[in-house]
Amino acid sequence: MSNEPKPADPEKEKRKIKSVGKMKEIMTGYYIEAKTAEQTGKKVAWITSGGPVEPLIAMDVIPVYPENHGAMIGASKMGSDLCEKAESMGYARDLCSYARADIACAPINGGPIGGLPKPDMLVCCNNICGTVLKWYQVQARHFGVPLFIFDTPFCHTEFSAEARRYVRRQVDEYIEFLEGVCASKMDVDRMHQVGRLSLEGQRLWQAVLDTTMHKPAPMSAFDAFFHLALIVTLRGTQTVVDYYTALLAEMKTRIENRISAVPKETYRLLWDNLPIWYRTRWLSEKFAAHEACLVADTYTSAWCGTMKYLDEADFLGTMAEAYSRIYLNIGVDEMARDVIAMIDKYAADGVVMHSNRSCKPYSFGQYDIKKIIQRERDVPVLLIEADMVDERSFAESQVDTRIDAFMEVLENRK
Ligand code: SF4
Repeated sequence: MSNEPKPADPEKEKRKIKSVGKMKEIMTGYYIEAKTAEQTGKKVAWITSGGPVEPLIAMDVIPVYPENHGAMIGASKMGSDLCEKAESMGYARDLCSYARADIACAPINGGPIGGLPKPDMLVCCNNICGTVLKWYQVQARHFGVPLFIFDTPFCHTEFSAEARRYVRRQVDEYIEFLEGVCASKMDVDRMHQVGRLSLEGQRLWQAVLDTTMHKPAPMSAFDAFFHLALIVTLRGTQTVVDYYTALLAEMKTRIENRISAVPKETYRLLWDNLPIWYRTRWLSEKFAAHEACLVADTYTSAWCGTMKYLDEADFLGTMAEAYSRIYLNIGVDEMARDVIAMIDKYAADGVVMHSNRSCKPYSFGQYDIKKIIQRERDVPVLLIEADMVDERSFAESQVDTRIDAFMEVLENRK
């Protein structure tokens, strides 16, 4: 048998997104900077994925995201082992697998990058779920560091004047907290610049996602899951603006050259909920084999979904509303409206919902949203039961059969 490497498939090579290399380089640099923060005298804050990161950037604090780490753990297929370890520490299997994986990693520096850098403080915003409150309390006790809780009331239908005042006051308290831990004052001009860059980054990310309105789509939701990392972790920096400017240009070139994410795109689908990190490649190949492209998703668009509430001239004032009205902190009717708007915008033929055992706020309303979609748009909806990190909740043969049956329904409708 020859040991010579197989020649690259030119078709596959043509479809590869070139910016991937740059993204890996930026993320490697980011984690090296965070892990060497103690030597360089910089402070590190762990922060929830939906948390207001811009004041941290303005104070030159390195934000670190346990949820981004959780995604890496899932993609590296280390999730089940770490979740089991957390369960042996006394945490229930029903607890979010990001939380379990992170809690299990902390005492042993576990995971694909040998643990996260030790935090100097924790910032927890409950706009994504209530789980993060207890999770961050556990970690604050473990590391013996201060915790700031940014409390955003649930916005069932509206953002009341009381809610606005209540959250706005916390923005000031948050800045006081940071100034106390960092023992320095916030530079107002720098904060203004970070707010401008954050908004610019969000606009560019939305523009990248919107390139999939083109038929065929130059990228898929699976690509978006990967390229999302920067708008989550480094929002408010020039790095994000430069990266998405280049990615957008690459997508436009792909459209001009008719390079699509899926060869012979016939079906266009919308994905709901977090990715199944350990099965993204499998799912992407499975759908591509049916000539189906996941053209958009509710997850990656959440990091640009509330920029309509932001005002560059008053970033700190308007971020109270923007951080309160994110996708997971609004009522089911509004969520369904958002999903329907995406079906229309991206001309989706069907919706694939990941019923995620870990993420209750994302999964509980899905049956209602499914009913509303079918009533308003007559679009088939597939529900896949799984978990974003814990592989024990994924049954391959069952998911395989359900996707085949769903695609048959779509074929019969064409
Ligand atoms: S429960 Fe959902 S929103 Fe909360 S941390 Fe887990 S994945 Fe994120």
